[in-house]
Amino acid sequence: MSLCIVGTVAIDSLESPYGQAPEILGGSGTFSALAASYFGPVRLISVVGADFPMEHLEYLRARGINTDGVYVDPDGATFRWKGRYGDDLNVAETLETKLGVLANFQPRAPELFADSRLVFLANCDPGAQRRVLAQMTKPEFVAADTMNFWIGHTRESLLETLGKVTLLSLNEGEARMLTGERALKSCAQKIFSLGPKVVVIKGGEFGAMMFTEGETFCAPAIPKSDVVDPTGAGDSFAGGMLGYLAAVGRYDLATLRTAIIVGSACASFAIENFGTERYRTLTHDEILTRFWQFRDITRYGDFQLRW
Ligand code: AMP
Repeated sequence: MSLCIVGTVAIDSLESPYGQAPEILGGSGTFSALAASYFGPVRLISVVGADFPMEHLEYLRARGINTDGVYVDPDGATFRWKGRYGDDLNVAETLETKLGVLANFQPRAPELFADSRLVFLANCDPGAQRRVLAQMTKPEFVAADTMNFWIGHTRESLLETLGKVTLLSLNEGEARMLTGERALKSCAQKIFSLGPKVVVIKGGEFGAMMFTEGETFCAPAIPKSDVVDPTGAGDSFAGGMLGYLAAVGRYDLATLRTAIIVGSACASFAIENFGTERYRTLTHDEILTRFWQFRDITRYGDFQLRW
């Protein structure tokens, strides 16, 4: 099924305990489209400035991503994000956010994208997220992601977007910031009242939890010692999850559980190198192998309890 993603295509400058990477390809749309591209074709909507290196778009196209919806705005600079990770790799510190061309972005979906059945509103301006959604003629499943920047700066607009989505993914701190609750289950319950029926709360190296009215699912993360740069983990997670859902064409809870593990597998690769670098070599087989590792690390006992 057709998957359309709107999100940022960015130039990131990153610092982690493992080194620095100035002015590299990043963005929520970029990472999520790259992860999703392993499961089928992806349509991407975003905006960049005239300063954006065009070879980055060629790289995305080579992975089967349709970039006809990535507009080049000649009047401004590409969205830039500077981030730093300290000893706790789960926490990104934003050093600078320069919206550039994103500030006036009024996305227009190419006509050929309008019949997309799955829509992922990756982390970006909630107004732009809604605008894209409004141009889709028959979306069956709408997922969204957001972050502290938008929760803080554009709360009302974000709430309006949330009223239109089925699944919201966000990290622990953002779930607390959005809802004012502490316990993650309470956060999820409050988010249900805002619209989403499925809430996925990401916890970095501790994995992710999926909440619905009826059930809770806890997915681990693969413990890793070769983390280099956590940037893009959340977007890769969501991209892998949505890409899988689009490939399977079902959104029942069992399929969602599998999709979360697929997303977790994608995220576990993204963090092995700076920026999008790991995607240059990542293969389908590697994703499959890692998928099964998730089953192995959560299997315990013989499913009978006696003492
Ligand atoms: P994550 O997957 O959560 O690590 O997201 C990392 C990506 O988010 C980076 O490549 C940034 O370019 C992008 N990003 C940072 N701040 C924002 C923002 N306010 N809106 C959209 N994307 C952002």
